[in-house]
Amino acid sequence: MEDCIFCKIIKREIPSEIVYEDDEVIAFNDVNPLAPIHILVVPKKHIDCIAHLAEEDLPLISKIYGVINKIAEEKGFKENGFKVIVNSGKDSGQEVMHIHFHLLAGTNLAHINA
Ligand code: AMP
Ligand code: ZN
Repeated sequence: MEDCIFCKIIKREIPSEIVYEDDEVIAFNDVNPLAPIHILVVPKKHIDCIAHLAEEDLPLISKIYGVINKIAEEKGFKENGFKVIVNSGKDSGQEVMHIHFHLLAGTNLAHINA
């Protein structure tokens, strides 16, 4: 989608610190981290938010949880724990309308929200 910041990151039109990529999913560091580790895990397909998921998108969302585990394993925080947050729509405070999974780790996250 043309004016979408995450689509631009996917197309390398704007820079980001990519930590994982495959044919369907990309993950990069959040530019404004709320924890020592704050990664955004993003499907390459532009989907606005959870509320806009089609039935056919569900395997992709399931895959994203596998990617999250892979990143957690590789970065060494799988055992200590992590938090995944997905905002959907206006009332959630979602700012970037391309569905993304905040992956937070590296400290006690009990009171951290994204
Ligand atoms: P949300 O409020 O759930 O839509 O979260 C959007 C997130 O995207 C925020 O945590 C921002 O810090 C992050 N963000 C915005 N622009 C960029 C960017 N160019 N690169 C990395 N993260 C970004
Ligand atoms: Zn997009």
